[in-house]
Amino acid sequence: MTNALRRVALIVIFSFLVAFPVPAQSKAPIKDQNIRAELGFLASDAMQGRGSGTIYERIAAEYIGSQFRQFGLEPGGDTDTDGTKTYVQRVPLNSGVVPTGEQRATWNAIGVLRGSQPGEAIMLSAHLDHLGVDESLTGDKIFNGADDDASGCVAVLELARTLAAGKRPRRTIYFVCFGSEERGGYGSRHFIANPPVPLPQLVADLTFEMLGRPDPKVPVGNLWLTGFERSTLGPELARQGAALVADPHPDQHFFQRSDNYPLALRGVIAHTVSSYGLHTDYHRPSDEISKIDFAFMTRSLNSLVKPVQWFANSNFRPAWLPGQAPTR
Ligand SMILES: [Zn+2]
Repeated sequence: MTNALRRVALIVIFSFLVAFPVPAQSKAPIKDQNIRAELGFLASDAMQGRGSGTIYERIAAEYIGSQFRQFGLEPGGDTDTDGTKTYVQRVPLNSGVVPTGEQRATWNAIGVLRGSQPGEAIMLSAHLDHLGVDESLTGDKIFNGADDDASGCVAVLELARTLAAGKRPRRTIYFVCFGSEERGGYGSRHFIANPPVPLPQLVADLTFEMLGRPDPKVPVGNLWLTGFERSTLGPELARQGAALVADPHPDQHFFQRSDNYPLALRGVIAHTVSSYGLHTDYHRPSDEISKIDFAFMTRSLNSLVKPVQWFANSNFRPAWLPGQAPTR
């Protein structure tokens, strides 16, 4: 090769490397861009605040179901008119739940990662609805619910993506996003009344609520678990590496305020994972994507992957500590 040719070759190789750099390989399975993509869709203005029982709530459920399908989960929803099993479950609503003219139904999205041993199951859940639109407001009328609870749906989705990509777990995992949590927990109530497995076989539920922004009351990078001190689940997950600490706001009674609670009342070890630092955008149109801390979400969710994988493959059966099971 002549010097001139060698120079041309080097320039070509150098230009190629500049144009197509080798991306830094991250070992963390949950990717920032997937979180942004899912949260960006769910909390976009186009979704009109995913009002409980509205067509936008149904679209959110269909989107989440479509993602579950892409990840390779089994459908856990209704059977279509042509006999195909789907990922979305229609839950009829009785009177007084949604304004007249809207569909009297709410929508759950359910995907199943079938375990190798039948019997025990785990549930990871969130709520896909939010407060919709308030036409009486001036300015921004859309309650995007980026933190509440698009962030929780993204946690369920990304754990589904990651766990489905790995080896089949021993325990079956139900990934569920409920409708109409904001208007009375109708989606989860229906699920509990018609569970896909008998509730005694449900080893635990983790509900994900508002974990899109860090809580300054806990150490940097941590999520917190409601009712941490009530059962053996939180401490064990933390021992396995989850960035999970006790709820720093016990006066707020968050343990009783989400979809985990009706399950806990039925005896299931059920807690809520959150990092809600009592920000003032709660239930306001300003709960926007721009307020989400994606680096925090990526880091904290990645800390849950191995502990949840371990839990799904273990014989560890969490239990309420003496006198700590909720009774009403
Ligand atoms: Zn919520």
